[in-house]
Amino acid sequence: MSVLIFAELDEGKIKKSSQEALFYGAKVAEQTGTSATAIIIGQADDSELASAGRFGVTKVLHASNAQLNEPNGMAYATVVAAAVQQEGSKVIVLAKSSLADAMTARLAGKLKAGLAANVVELPDLSNGFRVKSSIYTGKAFAYNDLKADIKILAIKKNTITPEETDSTASVDSFSPTLNDADFVISVKSSEKASGDVLLPEADLVVSAGRGLKGPENWGIVEDLAHALHAATACSKPVSDLDWRPHSEHVGQTGLKISPNLYIACGISGAIQHLAGVNSSKVIVVINKDSEAPFFKSADYGIVGDVFDVLPRLTKAVKAL
Ligand code: FAD
Repeated sequence: MSVLIFAELDEGKIKKSSQEALFYGAKVAEQTGTSATAIIIGQADDSELASAGRFGVTKVLHASNAQLNEPNGMAYATVVAAAVQQEGSKVIVLAKSSLADAMTARLAGKLKAGLAANVVELPDLSNGFRVKSSIYTGKAFAYNDLKADIKILAIKKNTITPEETDSTASVDSFSPTLNDADFVISVKSSEKASGDVLLPEADLVVSAGRGLKGPENWGIVEDLAHALHAATACSKPVSDLDWRPHSEHVGQTGLKISPNLYIACGISGAIQHLAGVNSSKVIVVINKDSEAPFFKSADYGIVGDVFDVLPRLTKAVKAL
């Protein structure tokens, strides 16, 4: 039962969430007494590709041509399906992302595979192949028995902390046949949303709400984010008011994120907001109203005025 891991690139580097998927896949290979191979699509140098070995994979298949430079769910699903066939893989692991969302259902259809998304633990193999997944925006867990011959696991970010070794993987070039049907949707170019750090991938997030009063005050949020090397996020009303771009809106109707640290500044903590952030590892809430609902979900709370607290926090972080 060999394991194939799809590792996503960001500007030629393996994304952090994919490092977690590589380590997770290598652990599944260990559990099942087989080997782990990675498939990486797009431009990256050999040393980066071989570095996938740090997380436990022994071999990397590298598919790269001009048509595959831009992430494309359809074409990438075809490439991964071809790799599954070549390697005879029975388990496919990938990190949950918008690209993964565009790939997984197609891949499951092509391979007639069982699919579990938002997986949060290693599989339980004591009685078949059972995986635990997070559902209802983190409010509940489902236990899925995957009975199909081929199984696809889309791993939720922060599920596993990768351990690294000095090992490197061998790198083989991989050139499956692609045809026009794989490029019915063709991605011409892509550009990053605002901010130094990409929000869906960020480990640290500084987020702000209507308590900031207006877009002209976002400098204090960005200063703290910059000092922490964090991404910025916001509540829905803030993006509805055009104070911040919609790409920063988190919650039930926005991005669902699970960073290690989420700092909420001047956000009340409505359930619709919490739906997007409540699986963050540590939540810090700054609000001048000690009765704000967000404090109930906070690991640390600061009752205070953001215009006073944020600059002091930034100064303290810079002094570290
Ligand atoms: P407010 O509720 O106005 O809260 C502002 C907070 O700032 C208050 O707690 C106040 O005490 C505090 N404050 C004010 N001044 C200061 C200061 N100087 N210093 C410190 N604190 C201060 N919301 C989302 O965020 N994401 C979603 O995805 C989302 N989806 C929704 C879907 C539906 C169907 C519905 C009905 C609503 C949705 N909402 C969503 C809206 C949600 O219900 C709340 O209205 C919204 O989250 C409130 O945003 P806020 O906390 O920024 O603003």
